[in-house]
Amino acid sequence: MPFESLASRLQNVFGKLRSKGKLSEDDVNDALREVRLALLEADVNFKVVKDFIAKIRERAVGQEVMKSFTPGMVVVDIVNKELTALMGGTQSKLARSNRPPTVIMMAGLQGAGKTTSTGKLAKLLIKENHRPLLVAADIYRPAAIKQLQVLGEQVQAPVFSLGDQVSPVEIAKQGLEHAKEHGNDYVIIDTAGRLNIDEALMEELKSIRAEVKPDEILLVIDSMAGQEAVNVAQSFHEQLELTGVILTKLDSDTRGGAALSVKAVTGLPIKYAMTGEKLDAMEPFHPDRMASRILG
Ligand code: GDP
Repeated sequence: MPFESLASRLQNVFGKLRSKGKLSEDDVNDALREVRLALLEADVNFKVVKDFIAKIRERAVGQEVMKSFTPGMVVVDIVNKELTALMGGTQSKLARSNRPPTVIMMAGLQGAGKTTSTGKLAKLLIKENHRPLLVAADIYRPAAIKQLQVLGEQVQAPVFSLGDQVSPVEIAKQGLEHAKEHGNDYVIIDTAGRLNIDEALMEELKSIRAEVKPDEILLVIDSMAGQEAVNVAQSFHEQLELTGVILTKLDSDTRGGAALSVKAVTGLPIKYAMTGEKLDAMEPFHPDRMASRILG
């Protein structure tokens, strides 16, 4: 379960606060110290934690809170709002070009869940009556094209492929033309990943970007990698100017550090969260719902 240990620790801290009639400044400071530790243990970026605690302290030790009849609840409410803001505030919707097709480029390290996300995104779009075309531009991983074709069949989205002997830039270009000719209003390009960020990969992604001018460049990151996933996002963003993040494997990540840090560190919104391998296990990311789930 995502955030399992963080959620239970925070719920414990705030349970104590809620049960108190009046709060002293010491009570609030004790609680904030525990929140700070819980966040650090959840693998949230150090600076993000520092700023977060400072913001809450500023709001929570004020006169208004202390004078309230239910100060504990007011503090919890402040934390809830700040957690929501930390994860992006409001839901960040997928771009929609007013000159279709809307072009979405998927990027990410190998194994992050990029190909799976491509299929799941197509499924979500089809549910909203869109007609996505999937483009198989990962020609290096032997099974990637086949994997996308199988996913395409499962979600009933057409897959454009030119095999693995044509350059990814050419595949992306022809895929876009194919979509225009066939009335697809979304094009999702599955690009190659590597085990690590390397220059050749970045150059290829930049060339594809220059060719198809995407409306969205979504980076798929594995939330189990915690802060490392956030560093990966930062590096990709510096080179590619991403527009958003898809967070995968939230079902296996009990800590939640990536979800809580990535927006603050990179400025990028989390657009979707994935919580399992099944095809319907991807959803638009709602910061407010996630914050409420963490705080119980
Ligand atoms: P790619 O190399 O980035 O294209 O990665 P894949 O899409 O092939 O995914 C790698 C593996 O992670 C596959 O076995 C997926 O089923 C699995 N996976 C992807 N997303 C999730 C998720 O949210 N939860 C779980 N448990 N597994 C996932």
